[in-house]
Amino acid sequence: MIKANYPIDKFNEIQTPFYYYDLDVLRKTLVEIKSETKKTDFHVHYAMKANVNPSVLAVIKDAGLGADCVSGGEVQAAIDAGISPSKIVFAGVGKADWEINLGLYNDIFCFNVESVPELEVINELASAKGKIAHVALRINPNVSAHTHHYITTGLSENKFGINMSDLDHLIDLFPTLPNVKLIGIHFHIGSQITDLTSFQGLCVRVNELQEYFLSHSVKLEHINVGGGLGINYEHPNHFPIPDFQAYFNIFRDHLQLQHNQTLHFELGRAVVAQCGSLISRVLYVKQGSSKKFAILDAGFTDLIRPALYQAYHHIENLSSDLAVEPYDVVGPICESADTFAKGFVMNQTKRGDLIALRSAGAYGEIMASQYNLRKLPKAYTSDELAH
Ligand SMILES: *Cc1c(COP(=O)(O)O)cnc(C)c1O
Repeated sequence: MIKANYPIDKFNEIQTPFYYYDLDVLRKTLVEIKSETKKTDFHVHYAMKANVNPSVLAVIKDAGLGADCVSGGEVQAAIDAGISPSKIVFAGVGKADWEINLGLYNDIFCFNVESVPELEVINELASAKGKIAHVALRINPNVSAHTHHYITTGLSENKFGINMSDLDHLIDLFPTLPNVKLIGIHFHIGSQITDLTSFQGLCVRVNELQEYFLSHSVKLEHINVGGGLGINYEHPNHFPIPDFQAYFNIFRDHLQLQHNQTLHFELGRAVVAQCGSLISRVLYVKQGSSKKFAILDAGFTDLIRPALYQAYHHIENLSSDLAVEPYDVVGPICESADTFAKGFVMNQTKRGDLIALRSAGAYGEIMASQYNLRKLPKAYTSDELAH
């Protein structure tokens, strides 16, 4: 079995469970993104909610990416990490006044507005500061992302964005709101999208909307197509870097930009998922009536994706080369949902073995909780453990 090339000697000195970030994988991923986006005027804003580990953020900032934020906390974290406010976009259906004020105070690049009342509040708060807020309309394009229903966001039944049927009203509203300036339109149709035709569908819808705005004499400076590019959870060793070329080519080939328009992306998972693993130890191997349980010291408080989205994570026993057999890999938390995988085939396992739950760099550490009064997991990077 091919396994991650991890510093197991170092791991043995560290209290499990913990996150491990291979920053070389992250750097290679970013090089790939940059080489694909520099061909055309494409701008990537890293979706902060995927992972805000300071070491990870520093590498992303050094690569020159902007930030996509969905809370005031994330706006602040992006600024604290040294990301220029001129590269920060701020989305979210429920922005509180203090969060809007934080964005206004820092003159962020753009508020991605999700409703009429939010637009009115931004106008009011910007007026109080004597500023003009730059906004993009987050439009719900009613495009299916063919992904898990919990991470689908671009259907008219979802809570996100402005429905296309409200656009006439909004265009009439803008002249009455002097402290907001419409500079773009924004979309985000979902996450872990591996069927690239979903993005092609989005391009078709964007082209139609461009015609609509043109016919209403509205000039848009930028289009933001959000994030959502999926990664290969089944084979992280074979496909450590998503196919960014195919992804960006979809937009190059199918989205018609107007003169001087820039195209923006908000990638989260595709940037950070493959560089992270949750490292855990086997506490017990328990023989059930018909199967074996590998009981780990990591649980859904450390990595909730399997419990929340029925997500798959590839699991490797880093300590064993013995013949493989199936295990239900579970955590210690008092909930049946605390199961990482059922019938997972891995090398014969015993108490004390080190286990890697792969592709855990996105929506992993950041979603950790203290349920059952457990400790939050710590995190280490390949740079730290190299010396
Ligand atoms: C979560 C989110 C993203 C990033 O999604 P990924 O699937 O991680 O790429 C981008 N934009 C918005 C508005 C989001 O909410």
